[in-house]
Amino acid sequence: MNILDYICCPVCKSNLEKKERGFFCFDCNKNYEIMDEIPILVDFKKIPDHSAGQINYFKKEKIIENPEFKLDEWQKGYVEKFTANFPDVKNKTILDCGAGSGYMSVELAKKGATVFACDLTLKGLKRLKKISVNSNLAIKTICCSAEELPFKNETFDYFISNAVLEHLPREKEAIAEINRVCKKDAGLMITVPLNYKFLNPLFISINWFHDKRIGHLRRYDEKKLINKFTGWNAQDVYYTGHTKKVLKTLINIVAEVFNELKIEKDDRKKEKLKLWASNVICFFRR
Ligand SMILES: [Zn+2]
Repeated sequence: MNILDYICCPVCKSNLEKKERGFFCFDCNKNYEIMDEIPILVDFKKIPDHSAGQINYFKKEKIIENPEFKLDEWQKGYVEKFTANFPDVKNKTILDCGAGSGYMSVELAKKGATVFACDLTLKGLKRLKKISVNSNLAIKTICCSAEELPFKNETFDYFISNAVLEHLPREKEAIAEINRVCKKDAGLMITVPLNYKFLNPLFISINWFHDKRIGHLRRYDEKKLINKFTGWNAQDVYYTGHTKKVLKTLINIVAEVFNELKIEKDDRKKEKLKLWASNVICFFRR
């Protein structure tokens, strides 16, 4: 594959040209560097202060070296929900926007998809790049902003926005970018934290502190998502992180008492129940 068929200038959306020291946009007269073989298709000087703070926060986050890339039980659940909604991923092009550790990218690439894994934090991308090279997976790692995507119009069959929207100061722009880069019949997975009013009252304060610390700007429910994603049809909705799971997970941090698989299985029994959950996952089809 030629990456130039997929990427464009994040600012003016013009075609880029490969230069010795990166990718060049003639319209903006700007060079985008490549660091450790990862294209940096973002101008860090121009991103909002909140996002700059977020980069610093996630830079400090410890990355656990996990050469076999074993998935946590909840991560398996997310992958299973994706493939239940969108079983046909072979030879499809997917954008995992805000890939983080990259577990979704890895699992979908294993199923034969070509995945573009994007993030503003370079650290996770470097590690993901290593994994994809070692395992010979079709994953392209790109450092960019969700609010200014460096991809051509109607490029992707599927788009994943997993715990990203709530971090973005320019949410409207990010949604317009999703609409622009997705194909006319694309599938979309959105995961966001659930509105306070549906949370167990016991956990509202702890969630409030967590939101402040990690930089969540807002919370959602499926109605809010459906209103924001006009032109998309909601296909399925799930709720995760119910009371029992939160309690047992908190206890497990202190001493590992409960079995992770059992916690996850119990939580999944309630995946259609909104009350006292923590997150909402919405699958859309255009
Ligand atoms: Zn440009």
